[in-house]
Amino acid sequence: MLLTIAPDLKTLFLSSALSRGAFLLIFLVLLVSQSKARYLRHWTSALIASTVGLYITVEYADHSLLPLPIAFVSYSTLLGSLVTSWTGLRLFYSRAVNLWLIPLLTILPSALYVLGASLDFSARLLLPMIYAIAALAAGLALYEIIRSSGQRLLTPYLVAAAFATYFLALAVPGILILAGVLPAAIDTSSLPAILFDQASSILVYFGYIAMSGERATWDLRRQATTDPLTGVANRRGGQFTLEQMYRRQLRGRHCSVILADVDHFKNVNDTWGHEIGDVILMGVAARLGSSLRYEDYLVRWGGEEFLIILPDTSVEEAKVSAERLREVIANCPFSTGVAELSITLSLGCARMDTQDLSYEESVQRADKSLYRAKGTGRNQVC
Ligand code: GH3
Ligand code: MG
Ligand code: MG
Repeated sequence: MLLTIAPDLKTLFLSSALSRGAFLLIFLVLLVSQSKARYLRHWTSALIASTVGLYITVEYADHSLLPLPIAFVSYSTLLGSLVTSWTGLRLFYSRAVNLWLIPLLTILPSALYVLGASLDFSARLLLPMIYAIAALAAGLALYEIIRSSGQRLLTPYLVAAAFATYFLALAVPGILILAGVLPAAIDTSSLPAILFDQASSILVYFGYIAMSGERATWDLRRQATTDPLTGVANRRGGQFTLEQMYRRQLRGRHCSVILADVDHFKNVNDTWGHEIGDVILMGVAARLGSSLRYEDYLVRWGGEEFLIILPDTSVEEAKVSAERLREVIANCPFSTGVAELSITLSLGCARMDTQDLSYEESVQRADKSLYRAKGTGRNQVC
């Protein structure tokens, strides 16, 4: 079946080239608008290299083995497109990239192929080497996406599906040639890869564009819900989580909140200055954050006031947590560079109630408890 499609390869290439041209335009615009995103440069190189490689493969589709200079260019560009896809993915996930790996995995194998062929080594060994390196690069790209599955981005899975296809379309012919099942000829063995590429290349390049967009959306959302001084959630982020907890609680799950306020914080500012006040706030947030359970959520609710959201926690359990937080702050003074300052917290606990009309009522109750803790001597839990 594949062989009867073969004569149409040039038409196939023309339609593929047109869509690739459109993708190239989009990438060029993205390169200008997101000039700091280094991964876009790698993915644009991948697109250009694969188009050149595909053009040569189709142009020489009736050759069972490519003339050596053509083979060198064709294999370098095809490997280059897979390798720069992989390095682009590493950059996208903020991982280090050794740029020398690019020529090592592209030009070196192609040069070895040319050298081997001119020394009369069998194509049955040389072609599988090229397929193996290409499959390795596709596999590495797939691996980068799978190991980043914790990042909550969905669009990379489109690209992962495409690289899984490339991996199979490259590894299987390589193995079959080595095993002697398939003739050591590029025209037959490359057909699956060329055909799958019609769909896979769209998934890959459309996926890359969608990934940059999804990443930008997430970054904006994170910025909008993070407090720049302490790095914990800000009030907006807290409200979002409270709303979720309120809806869960209506379905029968417990949730408690703790409101914690630094005692006499104005004195710190007045005595030591606003900068030292900031250092204390950062220190308090860091200590609170590291004393919470993984599922708890710390929010800078305002000035020197922190809200802690405790899912699946009764108010009695919340009081135990609040007492632990009070001790974590009170038991050890804060080093600020100019002085060791003893800081204390007053804390108020409350639980969400099914009778509440919104999450705000539980926060108001915690605020009342906090007010009592302040009124009856501070440095305590109510
Ligand atoms: P209390 O024990 O009753 O809570 O007394 P307090 O002094 O802590 O309370 P008050 O509300 O009078 O003062 C809070 C202070 O927190 C006033 C404000 O300048 C300071 N503050 C709020 N946000 C920041 C900030 O981001 N950095 C610094 N350094 N100070 C802040
Ligand atoms: Mg205070
Ligand atoms: Mg306050």
